[in-house]
Amino acid sequence: MASKIKNPETIGLHGGEYRSDPATTAVAVPIYQTTSYQFKNAETAANLFGLKEFGNIYTRIMNPTCDVLEKRVAALEGGLAAVAVGSGQAASAFCLQNLCQAGDNVVSSTDLYGGTVNLFKNTLSMQGIEVRFADPKDPKNFEKLTDDKTRAYYGESLPNPYLRAFPIKEVADIGRKHSIPLIIDNTAAPVICKPIEHGAAVVMHSLTKYIGGHGTSIGGIIVDGGNFDWVKDPKRQPLMNQPDPSYSGAIWGRDVPKLTGANVAFAIRARVVLLRDLGAPLSPFNAFQIIQGLETVALRMKQHCANAEKVVKFLETQKKVKNVIYPTNHQGEIRERAKRYMKGGYGSLVGMDLGSREAGAKFIDSLKMLYHVANIGDARSLAIHPATTTHSQLNDQQLAEAGVTPGYVRLSIGIEHPDDIIADIKQALAA
Ligand code: PLP
Repeated sequence: MASKIKNPETIGLHGGEYRSDPATTAVAVPIYQTTSYQFKNAETAANLFGLKEFGNIYTRIMNPTCDVLEKRVAALEGGLAAVAVGSGQAASAFCLQNLCQAGDNVVSSTDLYGGTVNLFKNTLSMQGIEVRFADPKDPKNFEKLTDDKTRAYYGESLPNPYLRAFPIKEVADIGRKHSIPLIIDNTAAPVICKPIEHGAAVVMHSLTKYIGGHGTSIGGIIVDGGNFDWVKDPKRQPLMNQPDPSYSGAIWGRDVPKLTGANVAFAIRARVVLLRDLGAPLSPFNAFQIIQGLETVALRMKQHCANAEKVVKFLETQKKVKNVIYPTNHQGEIRERAKRYMKGGYGSLVGMDLGSREAGAKFIDSLKMLYHVANIGDARSLAIHPATTTHSQLNDQQLAEAGVTPGYVRLSIGIEHPDDIIADIKQALAA
């Protein structure tokens, strides 16, 4: 039954293959707090290590609690398989490391989370993986930066601070012409945006945000859409088409579909090569916490989106607010993209410009209910003033390049009663 479910409200509770614990019939997903699994016999152990059989080996590579989370998030995104990892950062790094060797490159959107920018510009480049940055305003910018060594395109479905929805189909279509997969970070838009339906090959999330939803646990996940032909152009995707010496010469793009009957080479390689070699698994305890969040994420997203729209309407009436940034407040094609790619709402992130650094800081200090934190997607409403925190090293011109003005305040609207959220914002604006 579970695998046929299409609606996100139901997937959160019943998705994947889990019905009850096979050992105890417990309905809640148990926390399998174990490092290892007793092999039935020597032959089974050999088969598991040789990938002739799939099953539990060691929690760095797989775990039954994580497995339920993986199947449910894969179902939520309309993908075929998923791999949970220790953080959203690990998920982004793995997405690129799964396709790139030193000397290869990726073309990424300029509209990215700051941590991803650091990873791409500094750490991965020091390891020989070059990331080229394309303004997603014109999807052709991705093609212009492509060469023979380009292995992937990368973007965020709903990036802040600009909140310009990403042209998913446009860039995915360009990529498919060249056998280049599009990877989408869908952290800011679970449930309301389905990148795989629009042609993305891989989706990743920071589970820390909306899916976990309660600000308790760091986690990340990579979803394989199962919709990409990894072997069509072997030169374009060498890591999927060349024998892997670390796995008795396995050719992932060719062998995984044969072994599993499913087009999930990306997920399997991420698990058996990257989790094996680089570590960074999600802990079973955090997987359990995030499963509790997943049960209600569809419901929470409705409230997040409805509340954010009410806050936007309120802010637009306020003289002290110079500009309100929201996906549908853009003009022309950028606004149309939000309407095309988001269904049921436009997320909980709202930007506002209060005109000056001092006004932004004063607003933050005057909030009584909203939390001042560097996070998004919590059930509670949150606020941050980038110019005095995350972006405090930048001058006004650098701030403008990063898409924030000195008076920019980012709000992540929670699921409290909208009147209470607006009342707190109102009194902080008055201060
Ligand atoms: N992607 C986006 C869009 C994010 O906002 C974040 C964190 O803020 C990350 C990735 C990184 O996730 P994590 O903090 O779980 O490592």
